[in-house]
Amino acid sequence: MIPVDCVFCKIAKKEIPAEIVYEDEKILCFKDVAPQAPVHCLIITRTHYRDLLSIGEKELPLMAHLLGKVLKIAKKLGLEETGFRLVNNCKESSGQSVFHLHFHIMGGRAFQWPPG
Ligand code: AMP
Repeated sequence: MIPVDCVFCKIAKKEIPAEIVYEDEKILCFKDVAPQAPVHCLIITRTHYRDLLSIGEKELPLMAHLLGKVLKIAKKLGLEETGFRLVNNCKESSGQSVFHLHFHIMGGRAFQWPPG
């Protein structure tokens, strides 16, 4: 069931504003409102999935589409040379705070591994 107050569904439907970097009929990429890096975007599916573990076999073509767009967007944002971090937080203990499937595309600075 789709929560009525899902903030990313609202962004996808243009009910609340976001700085959109890329969109098509399946996915949307916009700037994170509280960036943790010089480049910090979120890429979401237009369809609501709670988290990555909600994805099944039939969504794999959608995930392939999304990953292809991650690469195009990362290049468009100038991250091809320096690289970037692609993050998915899945469920509460991982740090997920918005329960609509999304990936963070972060770049423009150095990152430590492992993260804290
Ligand atoms: P996560 O903790 O992985 O669920 O990440 C959620 C991300 O969504 C955080 O980095 C927030 O800063 C970001 N966020 C929350 N609300 C908005 C919004 N309205 N527009 C853009 N980014 C948002």
